Amino acid sequence: MSRYIATRAIRGANLITQEAEALLNKALKEKGPETPVAFPNTAYDLPTILGMTGREITKLGELPPVLEHAKDLLHPVPSAHCWTPYLGETLDCGMATLLSAEIIEAVRFVYGEEPGSISGFHAAGGSFTSPDMAEGGNGMGRLNGPIDDIQLRAWGIQLVDGRMPGFAAIVGAAKSNEVAVKIVRELQKRNILIFLCGNTNGRSMIHQLQEEGVEMGYDTYIVPFGLDTLSAIYPIGFATRSALTFGGMKGGQAKDILLYNRQRVFAFVLALGEVDDLKYAAAAGAINYGFPVIADTRIPQILPTGVTTYEHVISMPFNEIEGKDDLERAEKLVQKCVETRGVKIKLTEVPIPVPYGSAFEGEVVRKGDMRVEFGGKYSRAFEYLRMVDMDQVEDGKVEVIGPGFDELPEGKAMDMGILVEVAGRKMQSDFEPVLERQIHYFCNGASGIQHIGQRDITWIRISKAAAAKGFNLRHFGDILHARFMADFGAIVDKVQVKIITDPALFHEWLGKARSAYDYRNRRLADMTDEVVDDFYTCTLCQSFAPTHLCLVSPQRLGLCGAYNYLDCAASYSINPTGPNQPVRKGRMIDQVKGIYTGLNEIAVQKSQGAVQEVSMYSIMNSPMTACGCFECIVMLIPEANGVMVVSREDTSMTPAGMTFSTLAGMAGGGLQTPGVMGIGKYYLTSPKFISADGGFKRIVWMSSILKQTMAAEMAEVAAREGDPDLIGKIADETICTDVDGLLAHLEGTGYPALMMEPMF
Ligand code: SF4
Ligand code: ZN
Repeated sequence: MSRYIATRAIRGANLITQEAEALLNKALKEKGPETPVAFPNTAYDLPTILGMTGREITKLGELPPVLEHAKDLLHPVPSAHCWTPYLGETLDCGMATLLSAEIIEAVRFVYGEEPGSISGFHAAGGSFTSPDMAEGGNGMGRLNGPIDDIQLRAWGIQLVDGRMPGFAAIVGAAKSNEVAVKIVRELQKRNILIFLCGNTNGRSMIHQLQEEGVEMGYDTYIVPFGLDTLSAIYPIGFATRSALTFGGMKGGQAKDILLYNRQRVFAFVLALGEVDDLKYAAAAGAINYGFPVIADTRIPQILPTGVTTYEHVISMPFNEIEGKDDLERAEKLVQKCVETRGVKIKLTEVPIPVPYGSAFEGEVVRKGDMRVEFGGKYSRAFEYLRMVDMDQVEDGKVEVIGPGFDELPEGKAMDMGILVEVAGRKMQSDFEPVLERQIHYFCNGASGIQHIGQRDITWIRISKAAAAKGFNLRHFGDILHARFMADFGAIVDKVQVKIITDPALFHEWLGKARSAYDYRNRRLADMTDEVVDDFYTCTLCQSFAPTHLCLVSPQRLGLCGAYNYLDCAASYSINPTGPNQPVRKGRMIDQVKGIYTGLNEIAVQKSQGAVQEVSMYSIMNSPMTACGCFECIVMLIPEANGVMVVSREDTSMTPAGMTFSTLAGMAGGGLQTPGVMGIGKYYLTSPKFISADGGFKRIVWMSSILKQTMAAEMAEVAAREGDPDLIGKIADETICTDVDGLLAHLEGTGYPALMMEPMF
């Protein structure tokens, strides 16, 4: 253990705790102890304080005991001669730093100083994203502040299934703008979330990326938290909330939360530029979580001890890294970070002229930036994947049949069809839709390409920037070949792609594709829970929620919405020892509730005894548990004799008196809570949706976004239920957000749930 690091970390911790004390006293005097404190859009109060101390802070007057706790953790700055610094003391001081930092940020919110904005933003004459994205909620020259719960959950599934291997907290500024961009691109390529905080002599990586026109925000996996070191508390809060959200831990389980992060959250700190006392102190805080610190300057290292099996602090002076230029040095620096933390990464080389990685999946190509589009308002596009015989596929062949877009004026649209033909000994026609849906993710991974929709409502845009770099139609084929072979190599042996723009051929294949979609729809409708013997388990989320198990049946998909029955079947074929295993239903115990011996046995086993019985179709009796990634929460509203359905996107108040964020705390964590359930939104349209409790007509309130985005599906359900006006009668947040309003609305519309038999 380095005495130098200990000294500086301890000094930094003492200073910041004093600062927290002074600020808190001032706030208490000026604002009073009853003043509310909160981080916006999170149900986890001040998350690090909640996690580490169990205190649910809601007002200023509750902070002094936290400060006292931080002060108790402090140690005196070691004297120059006769004290041997010890890791434990440094770690304690690190924890004190985190608590103090969160107190300071909370007080800043009280004063409206957080989240700050980027100075020089207007002077620089640019914005993070163009004005039409202005309500996106992040970026835009404003710093982010804490990540909201909705985003945390949205990333959840990617974190658990390994698509997003971890996060990098970058503190300070890179050697040059060029290096900053390179570091970020290297991380994006590996799908690592990037959190930016702090500065070096007033300059931050946030400035550097802004100057280089790099888009920051949730969509690009780059979150600009703040310009000072204190904002490093947000990544730590994110890590703490991961444990609370996905690990089912409760506030105050400090040791478990730290251990959880050490074992499951692959994160590291990259300290760029000079490291001052406060940065050492914050780094000591991160080490508590098992997150190593890699510095690009010369500082003493801390090598493995009991707390981590890997190094705590690594020094890799930037100019001494071997490499032909700074770009290569940046690449090696990122490589070192990844190795140090042991971040697991699957990289697929995709031979196209633009950067590629899931970090680009959410990228938007705006009209003004668009070179050409396919589908949407002015043209049509479809995509169709089909299985053919081995000898009909020439692996890797990509054909563009018809004109390219070279001749087309900028910003125009044209028709295009993507036909993917696959062959493989283990391929089954049931897997066609599973693979076809991947086209969306695969195409979106290319920087400057936007893909929306599927089947014959596909809508693709190519940006001017991507076109300028040489991206053309055949590259879609190159992407699809590379990714299908890499990700589905276990079931697909050969892949060829035809990009069809020739008008006659386009029509011919659109017709063929449509009959295939029809056939699949009918096949899916015929697939009921009764006709199959096996359901599938999904234990993918156990890496985050160790006792949670999804049971996936033809009529009930996984609660994240990402795994339906066929997905699980395909996943099982690809990886027979993976997270999706067939499970015999076994002997029927209760047909209405959907309780079977085989399902119970697997639930007991996979939940390590936490769940004894599970019913497929009831929210009231032994409902299925949830991890953290549900698309919707269904919850009993006793007064209305029905349930409400709250979508993850809905931030408004609900008749239960809680927002989605708060409800999520009750629904998740692998606990069985009668009356509360996390579900995938397509389960709502299944005839088996809480069929034991009365089915779809029990829904008395539903987030309006579900009504809008699933209008067609909902209309079908209404018809099935024999009441075409049913959806209109269901209340939503624009109609009421409390029980009285709900009851008045239901009585006014004569809603069926009120007349149904009591739910319990
Ligand atoms: Fe997680 Fe369930 Fe989705 Fe599997 S189906 S990834 S366990 S939420
Ligand atoms: Zn999950």
